[in-house]
Amino acid sequence: MKTLPSDSKKKESIKIIDVKKMGQKTSVNITGKIKWLEDARQVMCGKDKSIPKMVRAALLVDETASITLSVWGTFIQDITEDTTLNCVNLITEFYNNLRVATTSSTVFSIANDETNVDWNKHKIVPQSIKLCCPLIDTVKVDKIHQCINIDCKKKVVFFPGENTVSCNACKRKMRVSRCPTNLVAELTLTENEDDTKQHQVTIFGPVLMNMVNIKGETADALADILLMEENWDFVVNKKKVVTCVSKHTITFVPPTTINE
Ligand SMILES: [Zn+2]
Repeated sequence: MKTLPSDSKKKESIKIIDVKKMGQKTSVNITGKIKWLEDARQVMCGKDKSIPKMVRAALLVDETASITLSVWGTFIQDITEDTTLNCVNLITEFYNNLRVATTSSTVFSIANDETNVDWNKHKIVPQSIKLCCPLIDTVKVDKIHQCINIDCKKKVVFFPGENTVSCNACKRKMRVSRCPTNLVAELTLTENEDDTKQHQVTIFGPVLMNMVNIKGETADALADILLMEENWDFVVNKKKVVTCVSKHTITFVPPTTINE
């Protein structure tokens, strides 16, 4: 944790209720308190999707409203929960709704005026949970074909010998030969500390590749390999999809569970 400067040259902040009326790609300064919504996770970004970057979602709150803040890179280490921060040069972005994100020109400083936030008023739902070294109890591996429409990518099903297939999700037809294949593993993960707590999770090929070498293995052989794996940490999102797997290290910090 780096010591943040205090706000000697405070810039004008905008209330979150007004930020929410803005368009995207607008630079804003917000003074508010932060709660983490998830653990930091690695995402591939950049034009060629090959550069790994760390991102962590937080809830930024002032006395008027709350907004999701995507905290990128080294800023993740700079922030302490529950401190009132002046956030200068955040950028608005639109995903499912308007949120703000850090940019290379973002500056955080500790605000002198304490924003009084009652966290109980905000429904804080963690966006993902981290399972530390669960036991991999059951495994089912399938090789699936996906819709070639990049905005859809849903599973498509066809009978052997068919040349075209219709996607039930986006209602488009396509050539079977053009549909990319993907591996899908469904796992039962049992918590290490409490074996009554089970999680049924799904892992797709690109994430699975970080755990095991999937090249040249049959679905059945992969299931056997996965069952023998141990000491992996899993980040699972709200849709029960594993977004990140990493070999357990001793520096692991347990996830903060909020409002439970
Ligand atoms: Zn589709």
